[in-house]
Amino acid sequence: MHEFTIARSICRAAAEHTGDAKIDFMRVEVGALAGVSVDALDFCLGEMAGEAGLGKPEIVVEEVPAVLKCSCGKEYQTFELLEGCPSCGGFDREIISGMDITIKQIENGKERK
Ligand SMILES: [Zn+2]
Repeated sequence: MHEFTIARSICRAAAEHTGDAKIDFMRVEVGALAGVSVDALDFCLGEMAGEAGLGKPEIVVEEVPAVLKCSCGKEYQTFELLEGCPSCGGFDREIISGMDITIKQIENGKERK
């Protein structure tokens, strides 16, 4: 399962970040074009966190819109690649962001990062 592998690397990164301390809260952002199921990732993170030594943190997985730049010069955010540019309706676009999965926030009680 794709999300399971991703969850494992997120938990490893989080454990490295905190020096293997348990955490209370983790927020992960998933780009709309990352090709990841938010629900599945949420579930897998919950499963993996304990195994990675992170304890039982509250986990929030949020989908964030992709940023595209159209050949007409318009830069815009969207969740839906099947929709054309809001300015000209075109599909000749460059992907600026939206493929990434990012740990946005980790909290472990005394420390906020
Ligand atoms: Zn356009």
